[in-house]
Amino acid sequence: MARPLTVAIVGAGMGGLATAAALRRVGIDVTVYEQAAQFARLGAGIQIGCNAMKVLRGLGLESRLRGQSFYPRSWNNRDWRTGEVKFDMIFGETAEQKFGAPYLLAHRGDLHAALASAVPDECIKLNHRLVGLDETGCGVRLSFANGAVAVADAVVGADGVHSVVRDLLFGVSPVNFTGRIAYRTTYPATLLGGERIDDCTKWWGEDRHIVIYYVKPDRSEIYFVTSQPEPDFRIESWSAKGDVRELRTAFAGFDRQVETVLAACPDVHKWAIVDRDSLEHWVDRNVTLLGDACHPMTPYMAQGAAMAIEDAAVLSRCLDGVGRDELANAFRRFEASRKDRTVRVQQTSRANTWLKERTDTDWVYAYDAWNVPLAA
Ligand SMILES: Cc1cc2nc3c(=O)[nH]c(=O)nc-3n(C[C@H](O)[C@H](O)[C@H](O)COP(=O)(O)OP(=O)(O)OC[C@H]3O[C@@H](n4cnc5c(N)ncnc54)[C@H](O)[C@@H]3O)c2cc1C
Repeated sequence: MARPLTVAIVGAGMGGLATAAALRRVGIDVTVYEQAAQFARLGAGIQIGCNAMKVLRGLGLESRLRGQSFYPRSWNNRDWRTGEVKFDMIFGETAEQKFGAPYLLAHRGDLHAALASAVPDECIKLNHRLVGLDETGCGVRLSFANGAVAVADAVVGADGVHSVVRDLLFGVSPVNFTGRIAYRTTYPATLLGGERIDDCTKWWGEDRHIVIYYVKPDRSEIYFVTSQPEPDFRIESWSAKGDVRELRTAFAGFDRQVETVLAACPDVHKWAIVDRDSLEHWVDRNVTLLGDACHPMTPYMAQGAAMAIEDAAVLSRCLDGVGRDELANAFRRFEASRKDRTVRVQQTSRANTWLKERTDTDWVYAYDAWNVPLAA
């Protein structure tokens, strides 16, 4: 019997792990190389759109995620001061029936751990920071900062917005700093002192907003993420802390629910919001990019990880049953199948108008990465 294809995946984030799980389903031998020495449970929430949930269902993770995540009645959009409802995007059972999967609000660490559980430990190599790639006659050679070397038939660069794989393939290009920052944190809902808040609301201000939601099924933990101007702050790091007092001042005058959540917040992280224009190419022969490495976006549609997870399913379909000499074509087919959609989501997200008023959401949430037609 012919030996299975070997694919090296660089990066064990949402996209890399989803890709590893999806490629294993079609019999591909995967190894994931991650620069971090261990997985950390980061204090953040993540919205898992119905479109991403369809992929996660196919990876066998639906019941685990339903058990750990919050099932909101809607994503409400309200005026910062008057509380007037601008557009209440109903989720719950109605949307689940319409779009074919639930909309869930999760702790980011729970989603990451669920994806990691779908990939055997022996397939993940921590402490491996990629520094070099060479296409050779017998595969692609990867070199790592720790001195290790590996060879695989193909490579997937799922190494995030500052992708080294992208830099090696297409040259270094800086990210676009949007001039805005996000404060975010999760904390126990008991700190709210019994005050009840909406399931999930984006409070729209004039030049800033805050999104607040629960991330546990029993409403025991809440999360918020903001966006506001601060052109000189350029740190994107999970360890960069913000000043809670400055945050409260920045949202003074917002609705009482916002005031309550910020008053109870013990500490907060601060993060510069970046994106990129769409890339001309994602693929060079037997190497492709995936997720934030090729289509990073602002977080305003809550779709960045969802796009990476969709990529994983579509890539697995493109690689299903192909031979070694067909890999480059399969990667080109993957790019052609995914480009228009991800560019549209990047651009819509950048505009920050999603759900601000009645919005057609079908094109985002009804998409089914397991069944959508592939490019020729
Ligand atoms: C404030 C905020 C809120 C968000 N909210 C949502 C949301 O609600 N819903 C949603 O769908 N998306 C959301 N997103 C977007 C989402 O976080 C990203 O789109 C998603 O994490 C991208 O996944 P990825 O796997 O492509 O990249 P990443 O998650 O960045 O993973 C990349 C991995 O590659 C590793 N790596 C990097 N370089 C190397 C190297 N040289 N060698 C080896 N490993 C390497 C990194 O350590 C990392 O583990 C949000 C983003 C932000 C900033």
